Amino acid sequence: MAKAKESQINRRAFLKNAAAGAAVLATPAVVPAKPLPPEPRKTPPPLSREAEVEIPSPLEVLTEERLAIEIDGKRITGGVDFYDAKTRHLIDYKTTSAWTAVYDDGEKRGEWEAQVNIYAYMYRKSGFPVEKVSVILILRDWSKMKHRADPGKYPASMFLQWDLRLWGDGLVEDYLRLRIGRHEEARAGKILDCKPSEKWEKPTVYAVKKAGRKSSLRNLETLAAAEAMCTDKGPGHTVEIRPGDRVRCSGYCPVNKWCDSYQRYKREQEGNTNEN
Ligand code: SF4
Repeated sequence: MAKAKESQINRRAFLKNAAAGAAVLATPAVVPAKPLPPEPRKTPPPLSREAEVEIPSPLEVLTEERLAIEIDGKRITGGVDFYDAKTRHLIDYKTTSAWTAVYDDGEKRGEWEAQVNIYAYMYRKSGFPVEKVSVILILRDWSKMKHRADPGKYPASMFLQWDLRLWGDGLVEDYLRLRIGRHEEARAGKILDCKPSEKWEKPTVYAVKKAGRKSSLRNLETLAAAEAMCTDKGPGHTVEIRPGDRVRCSGYCPVNKWCDSYQRYKREQEGNTNEN
């Protein structure tokens, strides 16, 4: 009996203590916030000699760097898009039509080859060796469909790299002297005419036509040849003159209104049209 009472008292005391403990646990502890001690200032460890060697040189890659050289007292400047000092590779980016790559007749390639080789010369003269020159073509009108239609001819990507021939210093200097000479001649009033391919020239053609048919039987280069064909073919055949054009001159060249050659050509064309 005494044992049972003792046990009851113990049980009551246990429950009372447990309730008090639960109350303590249910009350969130409020700890006054102490200001955090200031973080010790970290000073970087001094670089070891090895670490200094491993840091890549900022001159490993140069982008859009403008350089200047002097040839026969003339200052020539140029800006290269990309130069990798590690591989000694010089690259220029060209935004162009996909047709430049498809109909690569060597003209653009030659023009860009001269340009990047002048840059390479400037780099060499400034202490940066060049072992490879390229242009990366960005084909603005590239089409996946056109590539699928003609995968052998049409580029597979809108980016294309052309690696070009690397010229020696002597060739670059000769080329620069030739170009400087042309500029001086132009200033003196002796302007060289552009080549037909530079004018994107479409010659005048003489189309032999048969009455009742839309397309021509043949397009001939001279009026005499076209008239002779008409005579051969007999009645019902006529000649239609289809005037040529200098597509670049008329639509794309920014200096066409000052260009004597084009202005002369335009007057001739207008004269021909009036005569006809
Ligand atoms: S307009 Fe004159 S400079 Fe321009 S492409 Fe034609 S010929 Fe050359």
